[in-house]
Amino acid sequence: MEKQSLETFINDCQVVLKDVLTTYPEIETTNYLQGLPRELLGKIFRLQPLSLFIPEHYGGRGGETRHRLALLEAVSYESIAVGLMMGINGSLFLEPVSKYAHEQTRKEIFNSFVSGPSLGGLMITEPGYGTDALSMRTSYSQTGGLVHLKGSKHWGGLTGLADFWIVTGRKEKENNKLARDIDLFIVDRAKREQQISVDEYYHKLGLFLIPYGLNSIDVTLPASSRLVPKTSGIKLMMDLLHRSRLRLSGIGLGFIKRMLDEAVAHCRQRYVGGKSLLAYDQVQHRISVLQAYFTIASAMCYYTAGVSSLGNDLASYGLQANAAKSVLTDMMQDSAQSLLQLTGAKGYRRDHIAGRAVADSRPFQIFEGSNDVMYSQVADSILRKMKDGKHFNLYDFLNHFVLTTDAADRFKDMLNFELDFSSVQRTRIVLGKIVAKLITANFTFALYKTDFRTDLVDNALEVIGNEIAAMMGAMKHSCVVRVLENYGENSDWKLYQPLPTA
Ligand SMILES: Cc1cc2nc3c(=O)[nH]c(=O)nc-3n(C[C@H](O)[C@H](O)[C@H](O)COP(=O)(O)OP(=O)(O)OC[C@H]3O[C@@H](n4cnc5c(N)ncnc54)[C@H](O)[C@@H]3O)c2cc1C
Repeated sequence: MEKQSLETFINDCQVVLKDVLTTYPEIETTNYLQGLPRELLGKIFRLQPLSLFIPEHYGGRGGETRHRLALLEAVSYESIAVGLMMGINGSLFLEPVSKYAHEQTRKEIFNSFVSGPSLGGLMITEPGYGTDALSMRTSYSQTGGLVHLKGSKHWGGLTGLADFWIVTGRKEKENNKLARDIDLFIVDRAKREQQISVDEYYHKLGLFLIPYGLNSIDVTLPASSRLVPKTSGIKLMMDLLHRSRLRLSGIGLGFIKRMLDEAVAHCRQRYVGGKSLLAYDQVQHRISVLQAYFTIASAMCYYTAGVSSLGNDLASYGLQANAAKSVLTDMMQDSAQSLLQLTGAKGYRRDHIAGRAVADSRPFQIFEGSNDVMYSQVADSILRKMKDGKHFNLYDFLNHFVLTTDAADRFKDMLNFELDFSSVQRTRIVLGKIVAKLITANFTFALYKTDFRTDLVDNALEVIGNEIAAMMGAMKHSCVVRVLENYGENSDWKLYQPLPTA
C-alpha cells in the first residue's frame, strides 16, 4: 500500500514538472544567471518532491533508496537540470544531514524543508583546488562553542539561491598549518552571522536554471553545525561522494531514456531519400547503442538501490562508484551527441532537447570527479590489487575479482593477456575504462536474475563487448605521442610552395 502511494507520488511529481515546462518553456531556454526565479521554482516544487529524502518522523515522506532513484529518473526524463537540482538537494545535502548532522540541527533543517520550499547545496571546490580538493585552503578555528569558517568556494550548484550549505574546510593548527583532515559544516544563510556573499555569477554553458558562481565565506557558526564523522571527515566525505556518484544513475537513466525515446520518435517520422530514417543501418546502430545504454543505466540503478542506503558506509566503494559514475556520464554525453546527429540541424537549437542535452550533460563528465581522473584511479586500484596478489594476467585476476567475475568470463578472449605494469597514464586510463566497463557489465549481468527483458540485456552486453574490443586495440597499440612545446616554429603551411599533385 505504502509502496503504491510513493510510486503514485513520484508519477505526480513528474506530471507537475512536465506541465510547468510546457507552460513555461523559457525555463529551459533562458540562461538564468542567478537561477530560476523563486516563483517558477515554487511551481516545480509544488508537491514537495524533496520530502522523499526526509524521514517520516521529521514530517517527510521517507522513501527507500529505490524511491529516491525513481524520483531522480522521473524528473530527469523531463529535465536533466531539474533532475540535477533534486540530486544536489537530496544526495549532496539532505542525505548527509540525515546521516551526520546533530539532532537539533537536523530537526531545524528538515522542518524548514517540510514547511516551505527550501534548497541546500554542497561547497567543496575552490578556485585553486578542484580535482585536488583535499588541499583546499578554506579553514576554521574554534573558540568555545563557536566556529569561525573562512575561505573562497566556487561552482557550488545553487550558488546564491540555496538557503543552506554544507561547506568543507580544514582546521587551523597551532603552528598555523592546516590539518590534513576535512570538516564539513552546515551554514544557514537565514542567520545574520552566516551570510555567504556571491562575488560573481558565472555565465555557464548549460544547465541554465542552476546558478553557479564564486563565493566568499566568512561565517561564525555554532560548533553543533559540524557534521559528525564516524571516524574521519575525509571518510565522511568519501561516503557522501560515493553515494552521490552512484545515485547519479537515477539522473542518467531518466536522461538516456529520454534521448532514446526522442531518437526513435524523430527517426520514425523523418523521411530522407524516400524512406524513414529508421530504415538506415547506421541509424539502427545509433539507436541500438542508445538502447544498450538504457539497459546499462538501469542495471546501475538496480545495483545502487541495493547498496546505497544511508545505513551502508560507502567510504570503501570507490571502485564501484568511480567506475559507475564515469561510464554513466560518458554514456549520457554520447547519447546526447547521437540524438543531435540524428535530428540534424533541427536539433542544433537551445529550444530543442537534442542541442540542450549536449551542453547540459557535458559537465557530468567533469563534476563529482573528472572522468579522466576517475578512470585513472580505477586502473591504479586494479593494478595495485593485481600486484598484491602477484597476478600478471588480466583475465586471471578479473575472473576472481568479485566486481567483474561474470563479465570477465564473458569477455575472456579479449582479456587473456599479460599486463604491462609500467605503462604511462594514458594507457592506464584506457585500462581504467575497460575495467569500469567490465564492472558495469557485471551490474548488467545481475539483471538476468530478475524479470528484466533478457533480449535487452543480451544486446547491452554485445555493445559492451564491441566497446571493449575497440579499447583493447587502443591500449595494445598506443604509441606515446608527447606534446611539442613551441609548436609555432616551422609549422605554418602557407610558407611552403604547393606541389602540383593529383
Ligand atoms: C556544472 C558544474 C557543477 C558543479 N557543481 C559543484 C558543486 O555543487 N559543488 C562543488 O563543490 N563543486 C562543483 N563543481 C566543481 C567540480 O567539482 C570541479 O570543476 C571538478 O572537481 C574539477 O575541478 P577543476 O574545475 O578545478 O578542474 P582541475 O582540477 O583544474 O582539472 C581540470 C582537468 O585537468 C585534468 N586533470 C586534473 N587532474 C588530473 C590528473 N591527476 N590526471 C590526469 N588529468 C588530470 C582533467 O582532465 C580535469 O578535468 C561543479 C562544476 C561544474 C562544471
